[in-house]
Amino acid sequence: MKVSIGIDGADSPRGGCTTHALYRLLKGLLKEGYVGRILDYPYLVRLNPSVPFKTRGNGAVALKFELRREPEELVPFVVGAIEEYLREVSGRVDGVGLAIVFGDYDGELSQIYYEALTDYVHRSRIEGLIEGSNGRLVLPMGLNRGCVGALAAIGWPATRFTYELLVHRSSYLTPREALVDLGKLASVDLDPRYRTFCTFDPEVCRVVAIPRGPDPVLLGLRGLDPEGLVEALEYLGISKGIEGWIIFKTNQATGDHYIPRASRDMKPFRTGCVAGEVTSVRSVLGGDVELRINDGFGSLVAYVFKESGLTGIARSLVRGDVVRLCGTVRYWEGVGGVLHVELLEVVDLAELYVKRNPVCPACGARLKSAGRGKGFKCVKCGYRTRELEPLLQPVSRGVSRGIHVPSCGGAKHLTIPKPLADAGTYIPEQAPVGRISDFY
Ligand SMILES: [Zn+2]
Repeated sequence: MKVSIGIDGADSPRGGCTTHALYRLLKGLLKEGYVGRILDYPYLVRLNPSVPFKTRGNGAVALKFELRREPEELVPFVVGAIEEYLREVSGRVDGVGLAIVFGDYDGELSQIYYEALTDYVHRSRIEGLIEGSNGRLVLPMGLNRGCVGALAAIGWPATRFTYELLVHRSSYLTPREALVDLGKLASVDLDPRYRTFCTFDPEVCRVVAIPRGPDPVLLGLRGLDPEGLVEALEYLGISKGIEGWIIFKTNQATGDHYIPRASRDMKPFRTGCVAGEVTSVRSVLGGDVELRINDGFGSLVAYVFKESGLTGIARSLVRGDVVRLCGTVRYWEGVGGVLHVELLEVVDLAELYVKRNPVCPACGARLKSAGRGKGFKCVKCGYRTRELEPLLQPVSRGVSRGIHVPSCGGAKHLTIPKPLADAGTYIPEQAPVGRISDFY
């Protein structure tokens, strides 16, 4: 029988990590003979980053396999393993989301994945899912907020994905930098055999693969090919201080949360993309840029933050440009919903002109104004005219059409980072775009 286990929130500010909890659980399940065939890589699913109630990193995990022992034995074993993990590593006992699904219920759960990815999910949604499951879905540690993530991880359809190899360290005491050759880490992405990305960000000269804080993760190698990740790990040659490693299939770096929306649907705590015409561009104190766009349904306030590396492009936009902005909508006191931009696509550029005086038809010199309302005069040959109009000369804009995304260092978990965007990987679906006038 097929079994899916989803977990969310097994970490705490004191330590632990949901990926590590799944690693320990999987080892236990294999040792005790529960696992017949593993149906896919374990899933690591990042969910809506703008929801206020969430766990650190906002990641949930899931595991799918053919069960070899009795379902009645599995539930207490999983609960015991999670409780042991919480006691020993995380130092907390409540609020962990644990969901177990017997048989196939993935199709029904895929909807909850998209909701938890792009919107706010109320817990009553879960009550409905339990009722509709005919006993296939059980929540052995109770119904809590973490169950949303646990179910979303099981329901993830995994149509767009990358991989992450996570190395767990055996002790928090040794600094991570002492266990890994940073020089090798900085060069991994340069070898195309490994198909890794965002191990190191050359633009800010920073290792991105090593997290900070009291976390059992020593490092995470992101890539497009699981075998390449194993080869990259061998190349790094980490020989001490590690408990083990595990490869997850993940929605990270896929921009899966960039669903097309109208401006009026970009409510606080939602994610998505809006395409429209720029109506104002304003530089804000501190280096951020405020954009206002109108998509024909209304206007939207968007902020491009310095950390995204996109402020240069945002600042060079003018009224009349057509852009697509993707990201998460936060609630700002006194303002309402504000889109925090993670992807900026320049769809169409407004034509800008400078006025230039015409050329003298008699001698070819540039004419001068003869005074307000008096036409033009030529200082070289004395020609005068009231007939000629100023010339409109197009201005080069210095900003290119196309998709602009943050470099690895400025990218968040779900954001498509620059190396993938440059390679054309996981570019979000094109939403219908146009100028305001196209809608009437
Ligand atoms: Zn002249």
